[in-house]
Amino acid sequence: MLDNPRSHGLWEKTAPAAPVTTRLEGLETADAVIVGGGYTGLSAALHLAEAGAGVVLLEATEIGFGGAGRNVGLINAGMWVMPDDFPKELGPVYGERALTLLGNGPRLVREMISKHQIECELVENGTLHMAVGPEGLKELEERARQWQSRGAPVSILGAAETERRVGSSAYAGALLDMRAGTLQPLAYARGLAHAAVKAGAKLFTGSAVTSADINGEKHVVRTAQGAVSADWVIVATDAYSTGPWSVIRNEQVHLPYFNLATRPLSDNILRSILPGREGCWDTKEVLSSFRMDRGGRLVFGSVGALRGPGTAVHKSWAKRSLARLFPQLGDIEFEAEWYGQIGMTDNALPRLHKFDRNVIGFCGYNGRGIAPGTTFGKVLAEHVLGRISEADMPLPISDPKLPSLRPLKEAYYEAGAQIAHFAGERF
Ligand SMILES: Cc1cc2nc3c(=O)[nH]c(=O)nc-3n(C[C@H](O)[C@H](O)[C@H](O)COP(=O)(O)OP(=O)(O)OC[C@H]3O[C@@H](n4cnc5c(N)ncnc54)[C@H](O)[C@@H]3O)c2cc1C
Repeated sequence: MLDNPRSHGLWEKTAPAAPVTTRLEGLETADAVIVGGGYTGLSAALHLAEAGAGVVLLEATEIGFGGAGRNVGLINAGMWVMPDDFPKELGPVYGERALTLLGNGPRLVREMISKHQIECELVENGTLHMAVGPEGLKELEERARQWQSRGAPVSILGAAETERRVGSSAYAGALLDMRAGTLQPLAYARGLAHAAVKAGAKLFTGSAVTSADINGEKHVVRTAQGAVSADWVIVATDAYSTGPWSVIRNEQVHLPYFNLATRPLSDNILRSILPGREGCWDTKEVLSSFRMDRGGRLVFGSVGALRGPGTAVHKSWAKRSLARLFPQLGDIEFEAEWYGQIGMTDNALPRLHKFDRNVIGFCGYNGRGIAPGTTFGKVLAEHVLGRISEADMPLPISDPKLPSLRPLKEAYYEAGAQIAHFAGERF
């Protein structure tokens, strides 16, 4: 995208094409205008259009330009935080409601893929949260206990079974979550876009919303060359937000995260690494993730941005880490590299904002947007359709809250990752 091979890397190379879209020019009217063409906006557009509502979606750049086209592709249930933190932070009603909805999120993703026949490399064999050392295992045992008390199909695997599944002896065990899986993230976003167009939604790209105001009963959102007049505005711009709702970007601390993809591996090696094709990440503070794509490439990621001096540090660390984890890989060459910004909130939970009458949106998925974005997009559509009242939403409505020292924290994330990866190189 934008001729930048480090923005969407492998996913850009292997995703089917997006629907043909144009820039918004002139005036459009709709029941709802949706701002942002990631999972949240596309799911909202699709569900609204399927219900017969008039929908216009405006995307600043291209479908999947934000987190949706850059992520690892792990379809997770819940969030990073422990399940018990939901009711602790949100109270028992919202806490358990949000947790149940997000626990079922991967199921909704699978249903959407199947219903709309989205070609996005879906693998439904679960994810492995890998324990680094006894401390990591202790944390995962507690996480498993909290999910199991809610009936979730998660289990703890010992070191031997983990080694059998992963092909590396580096881990003390793992949490297997059978609700979860992997997909090709940009292909999923583009597939949702095709389905939304088919259902009757109008999608415009290269159409950044620059201002929004009210004209009588209607909301009017404007781009450089056009405007949309609508009863509802859904704000689905999350961490990549620009324009009138930039406050959403500013209330999140950006955590940079990169991915590197090997060349397709030989059949022999493919039999020895992740033969079950689970998606994996570990319990380290500066975590790593890995998964296979359908072409047999190993996609390996960690905290950091592939720009400036960080690029060499992170890539060199990744080579050494992979060589340690999977010596059978031999000389490692990467075919693609990319990175993006993960939006983190101060309590690591997503937020629901009402910016004005009939102007509403979720944000702050803290690195967990595939299932939550799809789910919350559906919830927003149902709210607009009058099927879910404000009181029955999965999160309480809150005002945007700016974090203290955001630029400093962002610099710290990148510097911390570089230091961890540089130090890691020497062992
Ligand atoms: C490197 C990385 C790894 C990740 N790994 C995972 C993972 O493995 N699993 C997982 O579930 N989640 C993961 N995430 C998180 C996930 O990608 C996001 O949470 C998800 O994309 C959020 O979806 P969204 O639709 O709300 O926002 P986005 O996908 O970010 O889409 C927002 C869109 O709004 C557009 N926009 C912004 N401002 C305007 C405007 N003024 N006018 C019009 N359009 C505008 C942007 O261009 C963008 O396309 C990861 C994220 C990153 C960056």
